[in-house]
Amino acid sequence: MRIIKGNPDIKQETVRIFFAIWPDVMAQKQLAALTEQLQAESLCRGRRTQAENIHLTLVFLGEVDPSKLEALCLAVDGIKSFYPRAFDMIIEEVRYWKHNRIVYAGTCNVPRELTDLVNAIQNVLFAAGFSFERRAYEPHITLMRKASCHTLPKLEKPIAWRAQEWVLVKSEQTSSGSVYIPIGRWPLGNL
Ligand code: ATP
Ligand code: MG
Repeated sequence: MRIIKGNPDIKQETVRIFFAIWPDVMAQKQLAALTEQLQAESLCRGRRTQAENIHLTLVFLGEVDPSKLEALCLAVDGIKSFYPRAFDMIIEEVRYWKHNRIVYAGTCNVPRELTDLVNAIQNVLFAAGFSFERRAYEPHITLMRKASCHTLPKLEKPIAWRAQEWVLVKSEQTSSGSVYIPIGRWPLGNL
């Protein structure tokens, strides 16, 4: 049960959802090792992302009425007709956003297939009447939150995986942080 901010009298059950891509097991281990290195070497103070939570957000919807989930899944099912393709996600850098104190893993070459997928999701959701923030897409994998950094490590070699599916995730806020529960899954095609 959530209370809509500013309207303490209006109570409505909602689910907090977003679309994302999860790294494969090997990349997840490497990214988790990076978060441990950041903490162990005291390069950044802050809260590190748990290994199982490491992900690349595609589109964040936020609070949605659960009765709309079926329509939402139907809308994105239509993306099949765009033949979204699998792609290699290659992480070369650890970066820091000072304005929101996030340390993230980033890429120097945003795959065209990734941008196409994000645009397709945004377009079908917009056409189906869902509202969300349409900022310029900047792919990032959050490694640490509430961080303050003095040095960022250089990656000896890139961390890479082949993105073969995208997921719809429910985010539950608990006392020990966000818990992510996948509630939908769509494949990316290989040529
Ligand atoms: P926590 O809130 O516990 O720090 P979190 O930010 O990962 O964890 P959520 O707030 O549910 O959990 O966010 C889920 C994903 O969506 C995260 O990748 C987060 O960066 C992203 N996200 C959250 N809010 C927004 C937003 N307003 N615009 C774009 N992406 C967002
Ligand atoms: Mg958050």
